[in-house]
Amino acid sequence: MNFLADYIEKELGIDKKVFDFCEKIENDIKEKFQEIDKISEFNQYKVLSAMQKNKLSDIHFAATTGYGYNDLGRDTLESIYADVFKAEAALVRPQIISGTHALTVALFGNLRYGDELLSPVGKPYDTLEGVIGHKRNVKGSLCEHGISYKQIDLINGNVDYSSIPNAITEKTKLVTIQRSKGYDYRPSLSIEEISKIIKTVKSIKPDAICMVDNCYGEFVDITEPIEAGADLAVGSLIKNPGGGLAPVGGYIVGKNEYVENAAFRLTSPGMGKEVGPTLGITPALIQGLFLSPCVVGGSLKGAVFAAEIYSRLGFDVMPSNNEKRTDIVQAIQMKTPENVISFCRGIQKGAPVDSYVVPEPWDMPGYDCKVIMAAGAFVQGSSIELSADAPMKPPYTVFMQGGLTWYHSKIGIMTAVDMMFKNNQIKL
Ligand SMILES: *Cc1c(COP(=O)(O)O)cnc(C)c1O
Repeated sequence: MNFLADYIEKELGIDKKVFDFCEKIENDIKEKFQEIDKISEFNQYKVLSAMQKNKLSDIHFAATTGYGYNDLGRDTLESIYADVFKAEAALVRPQIISGTHALTVALFGNLRYGDELLSPVGKPYDTLEGVIGHKRNVKGSLCEHGISYKQIDLINGNVDYSSIPNAITEKTKLVTIQRSKGYDYRPSLSIEEISKIIKTVKSIKPDAICMVDNCYGEFVDITEPIEAGADLAVGSLIKNPGGGLAPVGGYIVGKNEYVENAAFRLTSPGMGKEVGPTLGITPALIQGLFLSPCVVGGSLKGAVFAAEIYSRLGFDVMPSNNEKRTDIVQAIQMKTPENVISFCRGIQKGAPVDSYVVPEPWDMPGYDCKVIMAAGAFVQGSSIELSADAPMKPPYTVFMQGGLTWYHSKIGIMTAVDMMFKNNQIKL
């Protein structure tokens, strides 16, 4: 293995001590990697059989323009998504710009004036605060449209199941359940916990629509939210299911009626899924889905690797190296702003795109402090590619995720460790 150590030291400038330390850790977590490989293998079969069942063929790779009537590729892709996620229907479109947009379309499509939205899993992802508009007046938000919002806070990061029954009223129309921690330092929800929340909700109000924000969760486990009883699951194609190849897009899967409501909101009432050109990107969306189980596996290996490294170096990590994972996000409490900056600069330095750029903390809309971001991605903002970001406030938690291949995750993380080593922030 000396060829690798020599190359990495000479060409990448990574200290041999850092390489040896990381190699030892990789060796120590081999069993974890095998478990991840088995889940990827299972999900690979799942994706493959959905493609075979839907008789995917190269006629589906053609582009449509304009209205996009009779887009066979689009309809087949949606049918494949529905099968992969065990849903009745799917809406998978390049016209959905992001995860936030997909959630917006699902929420606005299914909520009406006077309805209430409930989050039983604490505060929603930052960008959703604007969509809901409960904290401040936001033009066009759900609150401005007369839809109210209620939230059950987590207790020490855990779901407060006992408060769910009392929070549900006549008005409760939709319950939103965020699987991933997002940028909170709390455990992410397992499929089992999601199932328990849904059972609790349905026991009080069987017709409440249960929607799971599945961002970062796809293919991390062998089942997905619809199998846990969700009526809708929503995510972004520039995260897990796009496999790094999708240049844009989002998906909504679930019950026919609710997916159709979302489609009427995305395009127009009366038109729904019938329109929407794919402009030539269907092959990337399909091939990205095909690669996604493997890409997600590589990202997970990176997350486990980073968790093991930093916990051995004395940092608090979430999830811990031994916890079962339900999303690809790894949080590490870096203790000092200098550590955060070195880590993010290392991740950036190890990127295939913009590796020469030096990230700086800066003021971002919607945040109460400066934020630093490392992202050298082929697709702008893609976080299935190796990326890290951190709000610059105590305890200086960095959120790292992605990696199109395990090898790149490893090199990126080693570069970050090396940056901290060279700046005397860690001892090996
Ligand atoms: C990323 C993310 C979103 C929003 O997705 P964008 O594509 O960034 O708009 C929503 N919820 C969760 C849990 C996420 O991780």
